Amino acid sequence: MADYMSEITKKIKDRSLFNEPLSKYTSWKVGGPADTFFAPDNRDELSQFLKSNYDKPITWLGNGTNVLVRDGGIRGSVISTKKSLNKIKKEADNTCRVEAGASCMDLALFAEKNQLGPAAFFSGIPGSVGGALTMNAGSFGHETWDFVESVEVIDQDGVIHHLDPKDFTFSYRTVKFPFPLCFVSCLMQFPESEITTKSELKSMRDQRFKTQPLTEDTCGSVFKNPEREHAGDLIERAGLKGYRIGGSSISTKHANFIVNEGNATSENIEDLIEYVQEIVSSQFDVELETEVRIIGEKLSVKNK
Ligand SMILES: Cc1cc2nc3c(=O)[nH]c(=O)nc-3n(C[C@H](O)[C@H](O)[C@H](O)COP(=O)(O)OP(=O)(O)OC[C@H]3O[C@@H](n4cnc5c(N)ncnc54)[C@H](O)[C@@H]3O)c2cc1C
Repeated sequence: MADYMSEITKKIKDRSLFNEPLSKYTSWKVGGPADTFFAPDNRDELSQFLKSNYDKPITWLGNGTNVLVRDGGIRGSVISTKKSLNKIKKEADNTCRVEAGASCMDLALFAEKNQLGPAAFFSGIPGSVGGALTMNAGSFGHETWDFVESVEVIDQDGVIHHLDPKDFTFSYRTVKFPFPLCFVSCLMQFPESEITTKSELKSMRDQRFKTQPLTEDTCGSVFKNPEREHAGDLIERAGLKGYRIGGSSISTKHANFIVNEGNATSENIEDLIEYVQEIVSSQFDVELETEVRIIGEKLSVKNK
């Protein structure tokens, strides 16, 4: 046991990255450095890392498809589940256990192969299942938590807990946790009567390609849809399609997407978000709330 623990400690030390640029891990391809960046290979490494970093702030990162990391980066440790903890296993007829680092696309493909469903809606969400649980990600009329039976989580002291959906409060793209935690896996149960089919996967993909700028660097929908409205419609009606600040612009294909044209900074994108909020508020008296999470520190003036 002592040997095993010292091997884990050595692996953690060898694989911790310092001052690691987070632009490498976000779909917008922007974001300053993390003081420490760590991608665990398994639960023991994750737990041990947390135990030895209990005194530092922790930020979780999945596939980085719903975060705007500011240019000054993130103090403390960033833990990424992107390349680990990604197994999916069928448990019983209509249930499967999915680890948090699995991609939503892999979950949809697994469901199609194993005749589980309806899970085709996961296929167009480029995030991890951990990110989808955090955001209650959804599309085409379904949301992640519609199918969650239980979750395995780890707290900031490295202790694993098993929780039920009733321990959380969730609504449209919002989940309130009972305490600060990281999702490790979840048990999903799908209704017996429905399955995921290849043709559904194809038609959802085709529909997305038609309406969304999927070949560009974006973070999906920037704003939540206000009640009875679509954020994209309001932004388009405000005449903002194509509007740009620095290297960022409002997509001409879908007005709720902001595109990094290649040289945007986080500051450009955040300024554009605030500009859109200001214009939509003044024209329609609607306050747009971001779906994207803005995290980290702004660059100090001396570092600009
Ligand atoms: C082209 C495109 C299309 C998209 N379409 C959709 C869509 O149809 N529907 C939709 O809902 N979203 C959509 N999104 C947004 C995004 O993919 C989802 O919100 C996704 O669930 C985020 O997952 P992630 O792994 O990328 O999370 P990240 O962006 O890495 O993180 C998001 C939040 O979750 C937290 N987090 C991540 N992993 C964990 C974990 N294991 N435990 C605890 N907290 C964690 C992070 O700290 C952060 O606060 C789209 C994005 C893009 C780029």
